[in-house]
Amino acid sequence: MKSFRKELAFEIRKRREFLNITPQVEQALAESGIREGLALVNAMHITASVFINDDEGGLHQDFETWLEGLAPEKPYSRYRHNGYEDNADAHLKRTIMGREVVVAVTAGKLDFGPWERIFYGEFDGKRRKRVLVKIIGE
Ligand code: ZN
Repeated sequence: MKSFRKELAFEIRKRREFLNITPQVEQALAESGIREGLALVNAMHITASVFINDDEGGLHQDFETWLEGLAPEKPYSRYRHNGYEDNADAHLKRTIMGREVVVAVTAGKLDFGPWERIFYGEFDGKRRKRVLVKIIGE
């Protein structure tokens, strides 16, 4: 069995943003040379997510509105975690949106449903962040 590891890095200028990282994951898969197996993609930060959904701008705005309703960024004082930080909402949003995805690799491709794409969800940005891609198989 082969195993391949790669870190992707992103500089997100805004506090919150969704980024389609499918092309970078496909590139990693191509570099791995693995044709059959599994690809794990996870955020390496506890205030960011990796998730699979539709690449549709309206839906991404709906996610933002929904997440702000569940865990509003402000007032910062509403969260106990915000004694030294201001990112409690980002930890909560990340928990809802998930840490990682696993995608089947078939015939050298990510074996997606028709509208599935991989997104990096940033909830406490304005700094460099990393995503881990680990692919195993043969
Ligand atoms: Zn924190």
